[in-house]
Amino acid sequence: MTSFEAIKQSEGFDVKAIRQDFPLLDQQIEGRKLVYLDNAATTQKPQVVIDGLNHYYSCDNANVHRGVHSLSDRATECFENARNTVQHFLNAAHRHEVIWTRGTTEALNMVASGLARSHLKAGDEIVITTMEHHANIVPWQMAAQQSGAKLLVAPINEKGELDLPAFKALLSEKTAVVSVAHVSNALGTINPIENIIQSAKRFDAITVVDGAQAVSHWPIDVQQLDCDFYAFSGHKLFGPTGIGVLYGKEKALEQLPPFLTGGEMIQTVTFESATWNELPYKFEAGTQHIAGAIGLAAAIDYLNGVDRVSAMDHEARLLKRCNELSENLGGLHLYGRAENKTAIFSFLMEGGHPNDVGTLLNQQGIAVRTGHHCTMPLMNHYGIPGTVRAAFAFYNTEDEVEMLFSALKKVQAFF
Ligand code: PMP
Repeated sequence: MTSFEAIKQSEGFDVKAIRQDFPLLDQQIEGRKLVYLDNAATTQKPQVVIDGLNHYYSCDNANVHRGVHSLSDRATECFENARNTVQHFLNAAHRHEVIWTRGTTEALNMVASGLARSHLKAGDEIVITTMEHHANIVPWQMAAQQSGAKLLVAPINEKGELDLPAFKALLSEKTAVVSVAHVSNALGTINPIENIIQSAKRFDAITVVDGAQAVSHWPIDVQQLDCDFYAFSGHKLFGPTGIGVLYGKEKALEQLPPFLTGGEMIQTVTFESATWNELPYKFEAGTQHIAGAIGLAAAIDYLNGVDRVSAMDHEARLLKRCNELSENLGGLHLYGRAENKTAIFSFLMEGGHPNDVGTLLNQQGIAVRTGHHCTMPLMNHYGIPGTVRAAFAFYNTEDEVEMLFSALKKVQAFF
């Protein structure tokens, strides 16, 4: 038994067994073993998710809700059971608080566009932070333009943590919305989301959480968080692309006007007007990504079988090892040194353009992301065009961290 295997066993997280559940991981790239470190962009899928999609299309495929035939009943049951699975995953109070979307981007647009039409007015303020993804910036810019509200941006400190006192100083009676990432996709920073939500509530602001980078790392309890809205994407949670979730408190969803209109979301239609369906269907116009919802539920069922505390510890060890090895290597500038962060290792190499570093890593079988990570304002804050980002999931190993750093050593020699 190697010392690493001994550590794994003693800490109760069998990463080798976990990896066997993810068929894609076992392949060669450029003649080398694939080391997949682009998990913040999208995660790989366990076999049960792939099988779930296959089974749905092979055996149960039909359109939901409208049918009088057995297949449609079966598809409807699978689809609505998937909603129950998400409800329990988030600990939402009601199943109708779970709205299917295409992903986090659509969910955030749904909220911002709805609030622009129903709630926001000139003089109101919307507060976001410097570390937001474009998906949590641009929809609010549009909402501000449409309503006359103003967009305020809370600063971050040199470690890439939210400057909490400065954030709180931005809040006032004018604050109508506070929308913040639970975890930064570019830095890995975990925001003090409970504190943020409670502070916003003192001013009766609507609270929106971009959970895209949080859900895959630890269990989320929306009732405990007490946020009005929480958005995430299935594909970052080991589920399919094209499916995501907007959680909204019943009251918040009741007050929000629909985003897309058409079939399914109506109760009655005349040529003059229409009335809306009940929740959650008011927000689910047209045929949904039925297979995606079922695949997402399969991913959640899979995660429910993983010891998530050990998985988190495992990821933390991977990040710790990255930090140790980067000190030995030298010549790397790290971005995002928050005390509380996920296993995202974002850096620039002296003398190396991020895209060149990424390409040279790929030649050694290592998949990372390079560029602005859809956080251009954050990159502007640092005065850089982008970074190289290695983002770890619980199926990554310490061996892979070692491989990343021996590959980086070769890249460094190249420059
Ligand atoms: N917010 C954050 C923090 C993200 O990391 C991402 C995806 N990179 C998004 C929003 C958008 O997610 P999607 O592309 O799945 O809609």
